[in-house]
Amino acid sequence: MSNGNWRSLAKQVERVETRLYVEESLQAGVTLGLDHARAHFLRSVLRLKRGARIAVFNGRDGEWAARLDALGKGWASLVVGDRRRAQEPGPDLWLVFVPIKRARLDFLVEKAVELGVSRLQPAMTRHTAVSRVNQERLAANAREAAEQCERLSVPEVGEARPLFDIMGDWPTERRLLVCSERGAAEPLSVVLQTAAGCAQAPWAILVGPEGGFARSELDGLLKLPFVTPVGLGPRILRADTAAIFALACWQAFLGDGATRPAMRET
Ligand code: SAH
Repeated sequence: MSNGNWRSLAKQVERVETRLYVEESLQAGVTLGLDHARAHFLRSVLRLKRGARIAVFNGRDGEWAARLDALGKGWASLVVGDRRRAQEPGPDLWLVFVPIKRARLDFLVEKAVELGVSRLQPAMTRHTAVSRVNQERLAANAREAAEQCERLSVPEVGEARPLFDIMGDWPTERRLLVCSERGAAEPLSVVLQTAAGCAQAPWAILVGPEGGFARSELDGLLKLPFVTPVGLGPRILRADTAAIFALACWQAFLGDGATRPAMRET
């Protein structure tokens, strides 16, 4: 992209209000210092100036208006103004996924955050194609996606662990929908439609690796009392597509996908 294009992109971005996730507690009048990377982003990428209005949230205290109070090379501070949105609990939905190649993994994390997951848990299986997971990158992508989509919280990102270690200390009240393209699993929509009329437990979705689950893994999963196998239709989906399909379907039946968009000023 040429310099001119970057500048016009930065201008467009500027028109949309910048939202930042911060760790600190939020209340009117407090001053927050930003780390080097975020100060650089505001100053050199977004080209914000002293006095610019931004929004901040921390996953606990709702969303607050803030003003860029001072910024220099690699440092910036904000002053917090009024609270604009109270904290609301989001849907309690975990996604357990098997790491895939980088570009697709970035995509998967971004979409899963937009689709409202509360926790992202990477799992290693027999056919995992990727041996190392860059957890910091996953967490940074999750944070950016949460900032962009106006969530009030950033999902937790678990450390990558072998699938059956994760199953070993699974909270058994949390139902796990295992997406399985083989065997006679009920369609996900049928399972969720039935569940929609019942008392709600917390949920999780497991999507397998590009190479599929090994037979023994699938057998092991199906023995677990909290597991329900589900199908996503007749086609074999890539792992990222399968995750998006399953999350969107869950949100439509049991989550906040059936509520109206929040009223916002345009
Ligand atoms: N290579 C495998 C396909 C793996 S697809 C094979 O051809 O057998 C990657 C993952 O997406 C699967 O492990 C499963 O969890 C999910 N998935 C893909 N298509 C699906 C479908 N139609 N129903 C349920 N799960 C599916």
